[in-house]
Amino acid sequence: MERYDYVVLGGGSGGLASARRAAKLGAKVAVVEPNALGGTCVNRGCVPKKVMWSAAQLLECLADMPDYGLDARLEGISWSRLKAARDAYVARLNDIYARNLAHDGAVRIEGRGTIVGREPAHGFVVAIGDRRVAAPQVLVATGGRPHLPAVPGVEHGITSDGFFMLEARPESVAIVGGGYIAMELAGIFRAFGSRVTIALRHDEVLRRFDAMVRTGLHEALVESGVEIVTAFEIAGATRGQDGRVTLGALDGRCITGIDALVWAIGREASSAGLGLRELGVALDDEGHVVVDDWQSTNVPGIHAVGDVTGRWTLTPVAIAAGRKLAERLFGGDAEARLEYECIPSVVFSHPPIGTVGLTEEDARRLHGDAVKVYASRFTDSYHGVTKRRPKTAMKVVTVGAEERVVGIHVIGRSADEIIQGFAVAVRMGARKRDLDRTVAIHPTAGEELVTLR
Ligand SMILES: Cc1cc2nc3c(=O)[nH]c(=O)nc-3n(C[C@H](O)[C@H](O)[C@H](O)COP(=O)(O)OP(=O)(O)OC[C@H]3O[C@@H](n4cnc5c(N)ncnc54)[C@H](O)[C@@H]3O)c2cc1C
Repeated sequence: MERYDYVVLGGGSGGLASARRAAKLGAKVAVVEPNALGGTCVNRGCVPKKVMWSAAQLLECLADMPDYGLDARLEGISWSRLKAARDAYVARLNDIYARNLAHDGAVRIEGRGTIVGREPAHGFVVAIGDRRVAAPQVLVATGGRPHLPAVPGVEHGITSDGFFMLEARPESVAIVGGGYIAMELAGIFRAFGSRVTIALRHDEVLRRFDAMVRTGLHEALVESGVEIVTAFEIAGATRGQDGRVTLGALDGRCITGIDALVWAIGREASSAGLGLRELGVALDDEGHVVVDDWQSTNVPGIHAVGDVTGRWTLTPVAIAAGRKLAERLFGGDAEARLEYECIPSVVFSHPPIGTVGLTEEDARRLHGDAVKVYASRFTDSYHGVTKRRPKTAMKVVTVGAEERVVGIHVIGRSADEIIQGFAVAVRMGARKRDLDRTVAIHPTAGEELVTLR
């Protein structure tokens, strides 16, 4: 039996961050991970997705070049070369993560971990194959995986994991789902020239986002040639003799001739097979590990961070929660915890979306008539000379006589980079007049947020 102070299940965003912080604080730490280090974000999420998004941005710019008087011709798209470059980047990151972990003094154990019981003298026992390790503190940071619909022919579709394995650009794509991953993949495929259909169960994309953003993205998708079908309750999928897939709805409608069918209907927690139920660790109805504000479960000594908890399933959230937990457990900071308010996020759609704080709808539900909204819709100066003229839209949501800013929403070119700085202001409790007192940077899209009337 190997003894540690802290055993971390999962070498993804949250697990690695927590393990490294704990090791730096002097704890003896082991990280258990069956796959390449870095988890979803590095291997099948944020990182390779951003590479694809950047490539898609380049293609869009290329299409705009003649309008700028710049003659350039696309000689071809090599999806396979792009994939090779992307995979090499991910492999580099895997190595860096392994080196960083070793540098901070944490031990990496390859394999799948299961908590198999308790050892009176040294806490919980974790089995990794035949190997046994024990620690008084265990972190569950096992993330999540794509959810699949329970319909016949589900095997004819891929998920976001499969997207990163595609060796060639599919000619025709159908994406089932209206969440941020569906939106991001739709934009990438479309920029690469695929025919894209989005099948929505309801009638709106990004249902939890501000209405301005939802409408803006819906319009932009349609404008770019993406077909959106609504109220499409999936009945099943079949593959024809020609290898192409047909997706059927319960009402009889069909989407035919699909080369790549993508299920993007959400993600589920990877909480099964970890020994949690056997220990009495509380899980919610969807299988997420239930934690308190301090990332601890109902079983003292078992903690969880990141996607497995289902709270703000984003990499920086998992990282921040993991670090705070390590500081509380091993750094003597009893108050350390991540505050889950004002978490900014970006959707890498085309155009991108940046958002922080309350939507207008949520603000009105909470604060009624005390809400005042400032909004603007304009054409970014980049599109001053292009035939393509997508709109940028911005909204600042304020509350009360002092007009405290409780939400900022942006859709349009550069929204992904604009929102981070404004998130600091919202976090600090900025009022509308603080935005007004800030001198604009001209000519930018961001200046609109400090000149709203
Ligand atoms: C397509 C896509 C795009 C995304 N884009 C973004 C983005 O742009 N920005 C953003 O912030 N977030 C993004 N995310 C979300 C982000 O990837 C996750 O929020 C983040 O990775 C969660 O970190 P985690 O540590 O909770 O889990 P993960 O990073 O998923 O790590 C969990 C690890 O646990 C391991 N594991 C599972 N079971 C066991 C076991 N029994 N024993 C040991 N190890 C185990 C897994 O192999 C995995 O490596 C994206 C996700 C997807 C799918």
